Amino acid sequence: MARKRKGPHIDEIDSGRLGKIAVENFEYNTARKQPRTQATSYVPQPAVPELPPLEFQSGSQLKDKHMLLSQMMKDFTDKKEFFINEILRQEYDIRIGQACPGCSSGCSSGNPALYRCQECCNGPMLCAECLKESHCLLPFHHIEKWNRDFFQRIPLSELGHQIMLGHNGHVCPGASTSDIKKLVITYINGVHKVQIIYCRCAGAGSHVKQLLQARFFPATLIEPRSAFTFSLLHHFHKMSNEAGSAAYGYVETLQLLTNDVAMDGVPERYQEFLNIIRFWIHLQVEKRSGKPLGIISRIPKSHHNSVAVLCPACPQPTINMAPNWEEEAEDKRHKHTLFLNVDGNFRLSQKAKKDDPNDTSLANGQAYFVEDTAYAEFLAEVAEDLIEDACTCSGFKAGDILRSARGKGTVVPGLVCDSCSQHMILRPKGSVDLQIGERFCNVDYALAHAIEDTVNEHLWITLSYDVGCQYCINLSKRMTAHFPEISKLMDRFTVLVPKMHIKAHKDACQPFYSLNLTSHTGQTDGEGGERIWHELNQFSNSTREMNHGSRHDALNDRMGDFNVRKMHEITEFLTSKYKKAIEEREEVIQEFNNITSATPDNYITAWKGLDTKLVLQKDVLAQEQMRSEIKKEMIGKGSHSKTGTSNLVDFLMEGLEISELQCDVKAQQEDFDESPTMTNEKHLTQMRENLRR
Ligand SMILES: [Zn+2]
Ligand SMILES: [Zn+2]
Ligand SMILES: [Zn+2]
Ligand SMILES: [Zn+2]
Ligand SMILES: [Zn+2]
Ligand SMILES: [Zn+2]
Repeated sequence: MARKRKGPHIDEIDSGRLGKIAVENFEYNTARKQPRTQATSYVPQPAVPELPPLEFQSGSQLKDKHMLLSQMMKDFTDKKEFFINEILRQEYDIRIGQACPGCSSGCSSGNPALYRCQECCNGPMLCAECLKESHCLLPFHHIEKWNRDFFQRIPLSELGHQIMLGHNGHVCPGASTSDIKKLVITYINGVHKVQIIYCRCAGAGSHVKQLLQARFFPATLIEPRSAFTFSLLHHFHKMSNEAGSAAYGYVETLQLLTNDVAMDGVPERYQEFLNIIRFWIHLQVEKRSGKPLGIISRIPKSHHNSVAVLCPACPQPTINMAPNWEEEAEDKRHKHTLFLNVDGNFRLSQKAKKDDPNDTSLANGQAYFVEDTAYAEFLAEVAEDLIEDACTCSGFKAGDILRSARGKGTVVPGLVCDSCSQHMILRPKGSVDLQIGERFCNVDYALAHAIEDTVNEHLWITLSYDVGCQYCINLSKRMTAHFPEISKLMDRFTVLVPKMHIKAHKDACQPFYSLNLTSHTGQTDGEGGERIWHELNQFSNSTREMNHGSRHDALNDRMGDFNVRKMHEITEFLTSKYKKAIEEREEVIQEFNNITSATPDNYITAWKGLDTKLVLQKDVLAQEQMRSEIKKEMIGKGSHSKTGTSNLVDFLMEGLEISELQCDVKAQQEDFDESPTMTNEKHLTQMRENLRR
C-alpha cells in the first residue's frame, strides 16, 4: 500500500522578516517511485476528475462588457492586500528544509529540499541533485537556493548541470574532458553561462553543426564561445516587427533579467547579437521564399531571383491569370488591371554613419529594395540631363527636388516605394533611396523595377501618385530613354491622383486625374501608400541610426512582414469587400432605375447623345467664384437688394452644408449601432454638437 504522508495543516506561519503569510493546506505523495527523467513530475498528483471541454470567451464577447476603467481598477484595489500577500508568499516556502520529495529513498531519509525553480509551473522544493536532474532538458530555467535568509538565484551550472549534445540529453559515451566547453548562451530570460559536452561519435559533425541541431545559433564559425537560442532570435524578430523593439534595449533587458543588481557581471553580447540577428532574419526570408526547397522549378523565370512576398490578388501573368485573358474584351479590362501606388517618404531616412562601404543588404536587389550598383549607375547616368519639369499644377512637395534637401548628418533623406493600391502589398524591387528631394528619376527607377517581373503588353496598369498630373507629362519619354522594355507598357498605362490628395490640385486639373471619374477603377482610392507609411514609420528611429546594409535588411524585413500579414488577411478582406460590392451594386441599380423612370424620355435621348469625354473648360468656376457670380447676377436683375441677395445665397449654401452634415451624422449613427464603442460614441456626440451650431 502506498504510504501517504500528510503535511502540516497550517493556515498561517510566522516567517520572521516577511511577517505573517497565509499558507494553504498542502499535501503531497512521495511514495510513488518516479523514474529520474525529464518527464518526472514531483508535484502532488491526486486523481484528476474528468471535465467537459472548456469553452473560452472570444475577444468580441469580452469587449461587450462595458466596464469602466475606474470601476475595474477599484475592484482590484479593494483586494490589494490579498494580492500583495499572494506575491509576498512567493518569497518563502513552507516546504523549505523538508525531505526532498524527489529522492527515491523516500522523504524520511531524503536530502533536505532547499532548491526551487522559478520557471517550472507549480515547481516543488527539491534537493540539488533532484533539481539538476529534473532540468536536464531545461538548461535555461532560473533556479534559486534558500540561503537561510532568502531565496538566492544561482546558475544551474553551480549544481554541476551540463548540456549534453547528441544523445537525447544523455552524455556521449565517447566524450572525454576535452569535449566539455564553457559557453555563454543567451535565451529569452537572460544570459546563461553553461557547460556543453559535445558528442564525439562518428557523423556527429562539427561543433557548429551540433549547436545548430540543439537549436543554438553560434556567434562565430570557429570554436564558438557564445550562442543564441533559436527561440530568442525568433522572439526578438517578432518583438522588433510588432512592438518596434530595438536591439540595444532588448539586449540590455536580457542582462537585467539575468541580474538586475550587478549587471556588470553579466556577459555583454550586443555586437554578436546584432550580427547574428541580421543573418538569422535573412535566413528566415530565404526559407519563406521557398528557394531552399526548390520552388524555382515551379515559378516563372522572372521571379527566380526574388525572395519578396508577392500579392496573391494582383494580376501576375503566367502565375494567377485565367488562360487566354489577353483575348478578353476591353470593357472587362478592370479584371486585368494592375493598380499601383507610388509615394515618397521623408521619415525613413538614414544618418551618416561610420560605414563599411562594402556592406550591402544580404538580399541586395532580391527583396523590396533595388540592387545597389545598378541603381548608382543609373543615377550617375541621369545626373547630367536632370532638369525637372516646371510644375503646372499647385505647388507640390513631391517632385520638388529642393524639398527635404538633406539636413546635416543625413545621407539618405527618405525613400520612394511602390505598392499595389487595392491590397496594400509592397512590390518586389519597388523601393529606392532618395538622394535629395523626391525626384521623378527616383520614382521612374522604382516603378520600372516594380513592374519588370510583370511585363506584358496586354496588361493594363493604373498608377496613383500624389503628383500624377506632373509625373505623367514626360513619363513616356523618360521610360523610352532609360527603360525601353517598360516603355512598351505605356499604351495601357494610366496615371491618376489618389482621392484625398487630389483635393489639393487645381480645379482645372482634378477631373482629369480623378479616380472617381475614370472608368474601370471601381472604388480604388489610391491612398494605400499612406497607410503603409503609417506602419513603417514606427521603425524610422531605429533604421535611421543603422548603416547602409543593415538598414536595407531591416526595412526589407519590415516590408516582408507587412506583406505576409496582409496576405494572411486577404481572404477575409476580399470576401467582405465582395459582399459589400454586391449589396451596393443592387442599391445603385435601384436608384438609377428610379431616376430613369422619373425622367422624360426626350431628356434621356438627349443625354445619351452627349459626348462623355472630359474636356477642359478654361472658364470653369470654383465654388467661391460661383457664389459671387450668382450674387452679382441676382443684383443685376434688380429682383433683390444687395443684403437680401447675400443672405439668400449664403442661406442656400448653408442649407447644403447642413444636409451634408446630416448625412455624416446618420452614417456615424449606423457605425455606432454596429459597434457601440466609446470612440464611436464620442465622434457621434461631437458631430451632433457641430450640427447644432
Ligand atoms: Zn514529448
Ligand atoms: Zn532529492
Ligand atoms: Zn524549471
Ligand atoms: Zn556521441
Ligand atoms: Zn495586390
Ligand atoms: Zn494637378
